[in-house]
Amino acid sequence: MPELPEVETTRRSLEPGLLGRTIVHVTVRDRRLRWPVPDDLERALTGAVVLGIRRRAKYLLIETDRGTVMVHLGMSGSLTLNPPLVPPAKHDHVEALLDTGWTLRLHDPRRFGSVHWITGDERSHALLRELAPEPLDPDFDGDYLHRITRGRSAAIKQILMNGHLVTGVGNIYASEALHAAAIHPGTPGRRLSLRRCETLANAVKQTLARAIEAGGSSLRDYVNGTGTPGYFQLQSAVYGRAGQPCLRCGGTIRLVRHGMRATYYCAACQH
Ligand SMILES: [Zn+2]
Repeated sequence: MPELPEVETTRRSLEPGLLGRTIVHVTVRDRRLRWPVPDDLERALTGAVVLGIRRRAKYLLIETDRGTVMVHLGMSGSLTLNPPLVPPAKHDHVEALLDTGWTLRLHDPRRFGSVHWITGDERSHALLRELAPEPLDPDFDGDYLHRITRGRSAAIKQILMNGHLVTGVGNIYASEALHAAAIHPGTPGRRLSLRRCETLANAVKQTLARAIEAGGSSLRDYVNGTGTPGYFQLQSAVYGRAGQPCLRCGGTIRLVRHGMRATYYCAACQH
């Protein structure tokens, strides 16, 4: 599933090819995504000029002179720019042809992604208005983490992954950040001191920033439409490393499962 770093990498890869371009044709092959693709998308977007591409949480916001297209990649989606004459593939459900001859395509085999058309202030959109702070923004810091963990007995890993409290930190990045901060994932949130919250907030930022950087290295192929979409292998310290030695202390990485969710941690150095 694309997490925040993959979505940010997608945003960066698309920006140079989209900025200032005019959309000359829109094709919707299948409207049945997680929410139906709006009926008027083709009409609304044809002739629109792209003014910018931004990200909020895991939503991509393609801003035009007529309104904003909001795209979510769901479980398996990718958004790529394809050179002229490259035919659409199976599961390329929505595409926009640009005046450069390149085509922006949403590919989504499982169709959990979505495309929305927003006119007016996007911040009041139902899917955006209740989103928690972005972990890479300055207002996400130790003070914020400390404030939201007071009175919460839920495990800190669950709190990090709670989209009402922190935006866009999925299982992999929560596990990695907790290891980097030497905090046991099961620690009740309310037990964390301000200092440990500061360490953790920094670890979350660094983990995400590193992943975005790692995504950048595969960007070239990606932009040229020849590579796999922006899901990249994180050089993980704990995630997927059950039974292997901890990179910090040499202890053994453990795996516990809560329902469908796997948590990896080092019992020796995460307290
Ligand atoms: Zn360790």
